[in-house]
Amino acid sequence: MYLSKLFVPITKDLPSEAKIKSHQLMLRTGMIKQSSAGIYSWLPLGFKVMKKIEKIVREEQNIIGAQEMLMPTIQSSEIWKESGRYEDYGEEMLRIKDRQGREMLYGPTNEEQITDIFRTSVKSYKSLPQILYHIQWKFRDEIRPRFGVMRCREFYMKDAYSFDLSDKDAKNSYNKIFYSYIKTFNRLGLKAIPMSADTGPIGGDLSHEFVILAETGESQIYADKKIFEIDLNKYDFSETSLQKMRDDFSSIYAVTDEKYKEKDFNDKVKKENQVKTKGIEVGHIFYFGDKYSKPLDCLIDTKDGKKVTVKMGSYGIGISRLVGATIEANFVNNVMKWPKSISPYDVVIIPSINKNNTENLEKAEKIYSELKKQNIDVLLDDVDENMSNKFKKHDLIGIPYQIIVGSKSEEDKFEFKELNSNSEILSLDKIKTKLKK
Ligand code: ATP
Ligand code: MG
Repeated sequence: MYLSKLFVPITKDLPSEAKIKSHQLMLRTGMIKQSSAGIYSWLPLGFKVMKKIEKIVREEQNIIGAQEMLMPTIQSSEIWKESGRYEDYGEEMLRIKDRQGREMLYGPTNEEQITDIFRTSVKSYKSLPQILYHIQWKFRDEIRPRFGVMRCREFYMKDAYSFDLSDKDAKNSYNKIFYSYIKTFNRLGLKAIPMSADTGPIGGDLSHEFVILAETGESQIYADKKIFEIDLNKYDFSETSLQKMRDDFSSIYAVTDEKYKEKDFNDKVKKENQVKTKGIEVGHIFYFGDKYSKPLDCLIDTKDGKKVTVKMGSYGIGISRLVGATIEANFVNNVMKWPKSISPYDVVIIPSINKNNTENLEKAEKIYSELKKQNIDVLLDDVDENMSNKFKKHDLIGIPYQIIVGSKSEEDKFEFKELNSNSEILSLDKIKTKLKK
C-alpha cells in the first residue's frame, strides 16, 4: 500500500478528550473515529490491527477444539427473564422495543442465548463435552465510557461457552481455555498474568482475570515476575498436565490491590522479582456450573438413564480493548512499536523525496515490489514531506521495521531500522531474510 492512497486521517492536534496514550494515538493516527460517547468507527489502520488480533484469537480457540458460530447482537428479553438476569443486569443493558411492542435487548453477553440453543439441541451425554464460541459486538451502557476503545459502550468480544457432564470435566474445559488464553496473549506479544478473581454478576465459584501490565491500567498489580517464565511447552493436553499447569500458575504470587498485603508480598517474593504496576484486564473466564442451566432447564441424559443439569463455563477476550491495551503496553518515550504479529504493516519504506530528483522514490518502488513478491505486508511512504516529519509520523504509527532510502543508502544497500534501536546498512537480500524471520 502507498501511504498517499491509504485512508489514514492523521492529525497533528492532541485531541483534548483523550486522557491516555492509546486513545490519543488511535485518534491521531486515524485508527478510529468516535461516533458518539463510547461508540467508534474503525478506520482502515485500526480495523487492520483488530482483524489481526481476531485471527490469532480464533486460531487458538480452534486449536483446543472450540467451534466457531455466530449469535445475533439483538436478543429477546424472554430468556433473560427465565434466568432472572433481566432485572439484575440493571442500567448497563440497552433495552429496545420492536414495532410489536416486544421487549428486546442488545446483548451485553450471551450465557442465556447459548444455553437456550443448547437445551433445544443437545440431550445426551454422548454429545459432551462441547466448547462453542463466537466473535461478536456487545453493548454495555457503561456509566462512564472512557479511554477510547478500552472502556466503550459498543465493543468487540470473543466469548466462548463450555458444556460438560460433571464438575470434573468442566474444570478440564476451563483449564483448556486457560492454556489457550496464555498462548494467545503470548502470540500477541503481551505479558498476561492470570489472577484469581471474584465472579461478580456472572456468578459461580472459579474465575480468573487475565491482566496485562501497563502504567495506565485500572487495577494495581503485585506479582512475582517468575510467572512470566512458565513455559507452556512443558504441558500436554492430558487432564493431569493441564491441571498441573494451572496449579503452577496459581502457586506464584500475583494479586490485585484488594488482596494485597505488604508483608505477604515481601515474605513470598524476592525483592528483585517484585513487580508493582498497573494492569489492564483483557480476558476473563468463569466456571459457574449450573447457574444458567438450572433456571433454563438445560438437562442432559446420563449413561445410566438419569437427567442432570449441564455444567457450564464462559470465557471472554476483549478484542477491541486489546488494540488499545497493546498500545499502552508498548509505548516508550513517544515511540510506539507494534508487536510483529499484529502490526498494521510488517515494514515501511521511507524514501527521502525531492521534487528535482525522483531516484530515491524509484528505488523505493523497486524494493516495494520485491517485498510484495515475498508476501511481506509493506507500506511505502510516498508522501512529499521532509524526513524529520516522516520519522515523527512513523514513530506514532509504530510499524516495527523501516527501510530508509536516503543519504545513507548506497547503490544497492539501504538503511534498515528496527524501531527503538540503531539502524544498519544492509543489502535487500539481507533485509528480506530479516523480515521473513
Ligand atoms: P471490566 O471489569 O473491565 O468492566 P468485565 O469484567 O465487565 O470488564 P467481562 O464480562 O469479563 O468484562 O468481559 C470480558 C472481556 O471483555 C473483558 O476482559 C474485557 O477485555 C472486555 N470488555 C468488557 N467490558 C468492556 C468495555 N466496556 N469496553 C471494551 N472491552 C470490554
Ligand atoms: Mg471481567
